[in-house]
Amino acid sequence: MKKPLLYRFIKEAEDKRVAIGHFNFSDIATMRGIVGAVRLIADKFHLNLPVCLGTSEGEVSYVGVGLAADIVRNLKKEGLSVFLNGDHIHSIEKLKTMVEAGYDSAVFDVSDLPFEQNIELTREAVKIAKGINKEFIIEGEVSHVGGSSKLLEDFPDDARLVPESLTSPDDARRFVESTGVDLIAPALGNIHGILKHSPNPRLDFARIKAIRAATAAPIVLHGGSGLRDEDFIQAIYSGVSVVHINTEIRLAWRKGLEAALGADEDEVAPYKIFPTAEKAIENIVFERLKLFNKLI
Ligand SMILES: [Zn+2]
Repeated sequence: MKKPLLYRFIKEAEDKRVAIGHFNFSDIATMRGIVGAVRLIADKFHLNLPVCLGTSEGEVSYVGVGLAADIVRNLKKEGLSVFLNGDHIHSIEKLKTMVEAGYDSAVFDVSDLPFEQNIELTREAVKIAKGINKEFIIEGEVSHVGGSSKLLEDFPDDARLVPESLTSPDDARRFVESTGVDLIAPALGNIHGILKHSPNPRLDFARIKAIRAATAAPIVLHGGSGLRDEDFIQAIYSGVSVVHINTEIRLAWRKGLEAALGADEDEVAPYKIFPTAEKAIENIVFERLKLFNKLI
């Protein structure tokens, strides 16, 4: 069977040692900012870059599964290579609503369960999702990537960066073989969120290479916000094919809104206020896409 388009784009990125950007949204300004950056890349570099738009369970509780799917369907009709991903979906019920609504992919995340239970439940999720849409792409989280997409006062309790809590190449291989997932999100020293008082930790690049060698499933890096540019470059070179960015976008959204609201206290038209946040998001996504795709 011919592999789904998104999967082929990811494999192509892997071969070229570039990465596909994954950006979360829960409102129109953010969605327009991300898509604006994709259009800007098309204008400046004559490239129709594949990009993933993501909604977590929290984000989609606001946007709605059907509306998110409709937005991305419309963008596809315009010729953009955008794909919709359910990000950290913890239940099979929620996963099913996304597959049925027309999402392209999802991260099925039960990584807080013990390894064997994670395998069992993820295998079930793969079977159900592909039973509804055989082209649906499933990503599994092998070991837990801790933190959450916000500014963090302290190092998150659920992110232990000792080597034994990171994903081993053997576990990655066994997880992929036993579950049938298309993509894996290993724990590589990454966390969700940006630490307020210190730089985010460095990634374990040797581990990325070893996992890449141990399994054919492309590697997705979560918690990209707050990483140094050179770490992205090295991670992608080592074998990461998709990078998730969320907190940076949320931060730009908030600062953009505050600036717009502060600039004119009498302004009440949302479509005049939101573009400041939208533009700030567009800039971040544009820079990230350039970095991930080696565009200068
Ligand atoms: Zn994540």
